[in-house]
Amino acid sequence: MKTNVVSVNFGAGREYPYLNDKFDLAVGDKVYVDGKLAGTPGTVTEVLTKFKVSLKYYKYVLQKIDYTVRGKFCTMDHYYITAQNDALPFEQLSAWVTAPEPVDEDEEEEQFLYGDGYDIALDELEEPEEGAVPETEPAAFWHGKDYEENGRLKFVTVIGGKGMRVLQTEKNVTTVEFDLDAENRRMINVYCDCIRPRLCADMTAVAYALRRVFDRGAAAAGDDFTLIERRLFRRVIESSEHMVIF
Ligand SMILES: [Zn+2]
Repeated sequence: MKTNVVSVNFGAGREYPYLNDKFDLAVGDKVYVDGKLAGTPGTVTEVLTKFKVSLKYYKYVLQKIDYTVRGKFCTMDHYYITAQNDALPFEQLSAWVTAPEPVDEDEEEEQFLYGDGYDIALDELEEPEEGAVPETEPAAFWHGKDYEENGRLKFVTVIGGKGMRVLQTEKNVTTVEFDLDAENRRMINVYCDCIRPRLCADMTAVAYALRRVFDRGAAAAGDDFTLIERRLFRRVIESSEHMVIF
């Protein structure tokens, strides 16, 4: 797309111009930018197509924060859920919870190496005997249940029946990715990007949430669906200027 310059307001009298070459931006859109204000959401106040600027001084818009919510959401315990193939994409949900890292040209981009993934049966989460699931962190099931019940799991989204990903926050944000075998109530190829190498509480928290979805009949095998923690959902609804629920 054609590069433009957008003026972004961060509140408290802070308004600066940024280059934008990735997003279709209009006045009122919320964005994350690179530079000193990385991590602070700002609002676009102007879009300029006539400009000449120095790349030495101008930073880029890194992400558009899209608060548009589509679909019919129902409450389910401490979540809102939309099913019937109205799932929201991971990238959109991710921007609600975490800002992209500022670009550091001297630093290498973070890369991940994958070994084998874990396999978690949703009906075998209760107090597995020690050593029953190899390579499991002590108390991973107990802690995961606690995370899930206490709203630390911020969202889960499943698109295409598998390739499903999740995000969770405490002090930091962790992403769990997995395939879903909903027919057999199993998560397969489960990976977490947290620092602990074993089957961890982040993964089991997702398993508890998925079991809740299926036990409640909130989604069926083969459905796309998105589960959003209640407080996060309300915050998004308050930020949304053009919410569409139908
Ligand atoms: Zn983890």
